[in-house]
Amino acid sequence: MDNKGYVMGLFSFILILPVFLMIMIAVNMVAGGADIQQTRLNSHEVFSVADDLETNIPLMGREVLRDKSEEVIRTGNPLSDSRKEIKEEFQDRMDQWCLKYASGGIRAECKILTVDNSPDPFKVEVKSSINVEKGTLKHQVNLSQNISLINESYPIPDPLPFVKCKGYGGATIRGNRIYYASSLVNYLKSRGINNSKAYENATSSLYIKKCPYNPYTLHGNGGSLVNLKNCIDNGFYHESSDGACFLCRLEGKSVCPHYGMETFIVPAPSVTLPSSNNSSAHAVSALDHVIFDDTDPGTYFGHIMVYFNNDTHYFYLYLDDSHREKYGLPPHD
Ligand SMILES: [Zn+2]
Ligand SMILES: [Zn+2]
Repeated sequence: MDNKGYVMGLFSFILILPVFLMIMIAVNMVAGGADIQQTRLNSHEVFSVADDLETNIPLMGREVLRDKSEEVIRTGNPLSDSRKEIKEEFQDRMDQWCLKYASGGIRAECKILTVDNSPDPFKVEVKSSINVEKGTLKHQVNLSQNISLINESYPIPDPLPFVKCKGYGGATIRGNRIYYASSLVNYLKSRGINNSKAYENATSSLYIKKCPYNPYTLHGNGGSLVNLKNCIDNGFYHESSDGACFLCRLEGKSVCPHYGMETFIVPAPSVTLPSSNNSSAHAVSALDHVIFDDTDPGTYFGHIMVYFNNDTHYFYLYLDDSHREKYGLPPHD
């Protein structure tokens, strides 16, 4: 009886074994499925954080560029190494930004590798490395992105005139223009430049805006100066291999080895005009890199050119022949 019971027990155990195995496999499959599901969720999160960082780098970069420029404008003091200082400030802000992902169990890191010139002077190039981790998932990507200086809803001011005019009475801001009062006259006079008084109450553009007249010879299209007037009224900037790039402007340099930009500094409109053979019809040429070039003999002269007049005032600037040619404007005499 005992033996029989033992044999029956063994037999039923063998019969039941596959059922146990099947249950175990089923349990494993459910657990494995949950793992796969979790991995999928993690990877979705990791990639969306990386995308978020990639989208935000140029936006945060533009804020840093604007804030640095405003700091230079406020103090009149140039940055000593703009690329390094912008990179450090940018890194601090990205570190702060990355912290916000920690609550989701994500470790995010964005390392700003370099901030430097882009071949397009209206852009600044940023290289970065993004690392995002959650659980066992790791995602790493290296980026090279351009920050545009000319977003209309987020304009960036030109710091250079504020550095150059510091100590000469200072330039101030009026609307979207820089107003020099007597500071530019004092600055030019201190360098021994003739007819510096031509720039009393002169103005130039505050914000960096890219001139749409391309090719530049369109400024004098068909002998009309309407486009030139429109360009000056709007405060446009132009590409120039002689003018300073934005990063060097932050360092107070009016000329630099990089491909840069230039804009016009125009005298205050006048009720009367000097006759064209008068010596006051001749003054430093209107381009900012010519006016602010304190490297001898960087500054050269140009003759007066009236681009508009209404019932009361003449609107004019001083322009040398090579820049007249660049902008398609009639040469002097
Ligand atoms: Zn223009
Ligand atoms: Zn430069």
